[in-house]
Amino acid sequence: MHPEDRERIRLIIEDVLDKSKSDGNYDVEYRTVGVEDKKIRWVRAMGKAIFDDENKPMRFIGTVLDITAQKQEEFRKNDFVAIVSHELKTPLTSMYGYIQIMLQNANESKDALSLRALNSMHGQTKKMIALIKDFLDIARLEEGKLQMIKKPFDLHLLLTDVCSELAFLSSHAIELQDCVELTVIGDREKIGQVMSNLLSNAVKYSPKGGKIIIGCDKEEKQVRVYVKDKGVGIHAKDLPHLFERFYRVDNEQIQTITGFGIGLYLSSEIVKSHGSTISVESIEGQGSTFYFYLPCY
Ligand code: ADP
Repeated sequence: MHPEDRERIRLIIEDVLDKSKSDGNYDVEYRTVGVEDKKIRWVRAMGKAIFDDENKPMRFIGTVLDITAQKQEEFRKNDFVAIVSHELKTPLTSMYGYIQIMLQNANESKDALSLRALNSMHGQTKKMIALIKDFLDIARLEEGKLQMIKKPFDLHLLLTDVCSELAFLSSHAIELQDCVELTVIGDREKIGQVMSNLLSNAVKYSPKGGKIIIGCDKEEKQVRVYVKDKGVGIHAKDLPHLFERFYRVDNEQIQTITGFGIGLYLSSEIVKSHGSTISVESIEGQGSTFYFYLPCY
C-alpha cells in the first residue's frame, strides 16, 4: 500500500472491526505500489466483517478491484473542469459587473422591461458564479490547497446576508430563528458558501414550496446550525452517499431538477476543516434537515 494511504486505511479498518461503528461494512479506494514494477495502481476494496454473538470480529470477506483506468479518467475530468472553471471566472465576473451598472441605469430611468430582464440576468449570473466557485474550490481541495481563514464573526449577520440573497432568487418563504448574538469561529466566506448550498438545495428540492427554516441551537461552547425544509425528502438508502462527490439521487420525482452533485461534497469538506461534520435527518416525502456544529463564544 502507498505510504500516504496507510494511516487513513488503518483507521477505517479499525472502525470496520467495530460493529457499532460500521456494521462491518468496508468500501475504500487506495493506491498500491507494485512490488516488482514499482508502478502506482488504484484499487477499490470492498468487503464485510462477520461478528460472533458477542460482537467480536470473526471473519472478513472481500474483493479488491483494479480501478486505475477509471481513476485516470476521473483525474482528466477534474483537470478539465478546473481549467474551464478558471477560464469562465473572469468573463463572468465582468459580465456581472456590467449587469449591475445597467440595473442601476434601468432603475433610474424606470425602464420596467429592462429592469425585469436585468434582474433575471443578475440572478442567473450570480448562480453561475457560485457554481464556478464550487468547481474551483473542489479542484483546490483535491490539491490540498483549499485554505480556511478562521476568525470570529457574527453568525446572524452572515445568515441574514445569505437569506436575503436567496430571497431575491426564489419565492419560498425563508425564516431565520434563534440565531441572534452568536459569535462563531470559522472562515466566514466558506461557511457562507456552505449555507448558500444548503439553502439553495432546500429551495431546489421543495418544488411544491413550503417554509424553509434556518435555525441555531446554542449549546455550551458550540452552536448547531440547521436548514430545514418540507421538500421531497431523501430515501434512507441514499443518506449514506449524499456527501460523496458527484452523487445525485436517482428518482423520478427529481429527475428534472438539474445539478452536478458537488454542493454537498464541498460543503461537507469545508465543515470537516472546521472540525465538524454535516449530518442529515430526512423522511422521504416529508422533508429534510441538514445541520452542522461551529465553535462559538
Ligand atoms: P446537486 O443538487 O447539484 O445534485 P448536491 O451535492 O447539492 O448536488 O446534492 C446531492 C443530492 O442530494 C441531490 O442530487 C439531491 O438528490 C439530494 N439533496 C440535497 N439536498 C436535498 C434536500 N434539501 N432535499 C432533498 N434532497 C436533497
